[in-house]
Amino acid sequence: MPQEVRGVVAKAKGQPVTVETIIIPDPGPGEAVVAIQACGVCHTDLHYREGGINDEFPFLLGHEAAGVVESVGEGVNDVAPGDFVILNWRAVCGSCRSCLRGRPHLCFDTHNATQKMTLADGTELSPALGIGAFCDKTLVAAGQCTKVDATAKPEVAGLLGCGVMAGLGAAMNTGEVGRGDSVAVFGCGGVGDAAIEGARLAGAATIIAVDLDDKKLEWAKNFGATHTINASEQDPVEKIRELTGGNGVDVAIEAVGSPKAYEQAFYSRDLAGTVVLVGVPNPEMTIELPFIELFGRGGSLKSSWYGDCLPSRDFPMLIDLYKQGRLNLEGFVSETISIDAVEEAFHKMEKGEVLRSVVVI
Ligand SMILES: [Zn+2]
Ligand SMILES: [Zn+2]
Repeated sequence: MPQEVRGVVAKAKGQPVTVETIIIPDPGPGEAVVAIQACGVCHTDLHYREGGINDEFPFLLGHEAAGVVESVGEGVNDVAPGDFVILNWRAVCGSCRSCLRGRPHLCFDTHNATQKMTLADGTELSPALGIGAFCDKTLVAAGQCTKVDATAKPEVAGLLGCGVMAGLGAAMNTGEVGRGDSVAVFGCGGVGDAAIEGARLAGAATIIAVDLDDKKLEWAKNFGATHTINASEQDPVEKIRELTGGNGVDVAIEAVGSPKAYEQAFYSRDLAGTVVLVGVPNPEMTIELPFIELFGRGGSLKSSWYGDCLPSRDFPMLIDLYKQGRLNLEGFVSETISIDAVEEAFHKMEKGEVLRSVVVI
């Protein structure tokens, strides 16, 4: 029997989101219905509302979530009703050219649910990142459910589903930060602070946080930044060189999506160093760099999508580290809110007042 639940919907470009009645079908083959317990508010949800992702309104927002599997469809063996799961937007196909070459974390054909959730009048919804979890329950592909230690708090665990994973993975997976490395992170919001946390966890000796806002630099210190630079007061490239014996850092992570910050990251790295771009640029942005510098400095310039994570590998491991007190996930939860307060949370996020507001269902 299809179920009626509450969910947060963006009906039209730029309009405030509203809580609507959503119809959830029973799970079909390969699908699962998950009772959501918590879902973080991410910039991408706001981008959907602003029409910045695509025009397929109405959107069912929310995608950084944890909950309990309620029911599964035919042929689902990896998860079962009652399992505590984090939802992911990288349910790998196992058969694309990337999966077949042993690189499932780069899968080019990830799965979402086949059936549609709808509004009460039958209008089909586009779930954010194929999830749609500001909702009592949601319908996903079973592969989007990653089972983790059920004693983890949902409001903390869910954050691994998107932004925090993107930052941790930018440092640990894409940047391959190792013991003793020096790292600079540009932009100290949720993703940047997660990159700092990831660098700390990976054993970096020097972690330099760069932002324009002193409040965010204070947050960065809580996650393990050893030095902070307010780029509105001093040249971050010069200061980073000074802090690294004149050399620059081994890994520079850009978590803003700004050509200026990228350029600073580029010039902040040591010879043979790595630049990781995890901030999301807009389509109009361009960047110009001296070609010889790309060649002459060696090293690599990389982009990090979803922290190059493989959910089945990374989520349970990171939850275990969190349970052992080695990974500070709690620090990302600025506040917990009700499902009615998402619009207000967008405003707080735009003003840079919170790392993460988390909807608790
Ligand atoms: Zn694939
Ligand atoms: Zn997100």
